[in-house]
Amino acid sequence: MTIDFSREEYSYDDLISDAYGLSIKYNKIIQYVTIGKSHDNRDIVMLRLGTGKKYILFSGGVHGRETINPIVLLKITEFYAKQYIEYEKNGYKHNYLLRETNSNVQRLYEDMIFAKCVYELLQTYTILMIPLLNPDGYMISLYGHKSVRNPALQSKLKRIKYNYSEWKFNGRGIDINRNFPCRSWKPKGINDYAASENESKALIQVFHQYRIKCYLDFHSRGKCIYYYRNSMSEKYNERQLYIAKRLKNITKYELVDPENEIEYGDSGGNTVQYFSEHFNKPALTIETVDENAPFPLDYRLRISTYEEIKLILFELAGLL
Ligand SMILES: [Zn+2]
Repeated sequence: MTIDFSREEYSYDDLISDAYGLSIKYNKIIQYVTIGKSHDNRDIVMLRLGTGKKYILFSGGVHGRETINPIVLLKITEFYAKQYIEYEKNGYKHNYLLRETNSNVQRLYEDMIFAKCVYELLQTYTILMIPLLNPDGYMISLYGHKSVRNPALQSKLKRIKYNYSEWKFNGRGIDINRNFPCRSWKPKGINDYAASENESKALIQVFHQYRIKCYLDFHSRGKCIYYYRNSMSEKYNERQLYIAKRLKNITKYELVDPENEIEYGDSGGNTVQYFSEHFNKPALTIETVDENAPFPLDYRLRISTYEEIKLILFELAGLL
């Protein structure tokens, strides 16, 4: 097993080494790509899983303190890659086993069908997986200002009194999820402008580089799904609702009411709004983890989160 949920401490370097490890172990099906650099000079990494010509994009770790999803997204990548490789290797052997064994034939059969579907899914689609868009924010939330290497950024950060385990922002103190140019975006100060941050630019570049059929952005907390987009047409929102309901069946997460898309007084400019408005394709925000889970998030939440969301990709590929 490459991705190990039992290691409580999990730094950015651990995540990068795991992501790279997956691309070596499953090199037939996973490619490791660097899509940008954070302001504190960390690589922003994406794994390309599959060989298909259609693209689905998943991102996580847009907010620093949401430390569960990045490792869970890696584990999900491993899960699908493993199914693919095993089916490729053992597809026929499964048939043989079915004839020979007296043991749990139904289970074997189910496993084989599932692996076959994943195999076909990854030949139709390539999954673009960005487990951690905001590496600096992730490190600040876990290790405080000491994690910042750039002296100018570090001294700026030290002046801000903040409980670091609650840190949502990037290394420059900007909320990336309010940094995307779209209809709802409003400046939050004189020097605030949309797409100012390296992390936002990296994601925007990916949006435009691939013809993405659907985008999911994973956040925490709330165990809920944001699907409604006020800036988009009724037809667009009908499709969003249809997908959201199917994902609700899989995850048991609640759908967020349309009027709660953006909190009152909050500015817009988030990842999914940008994607919807520019490409008119489905884009949803999935909030994992219980609403009341305190920060820093307990590392044991990885297992339940993984179980709740690992089949989302499978379900989604059947819908698009
Ligand atoms: Zn978030």
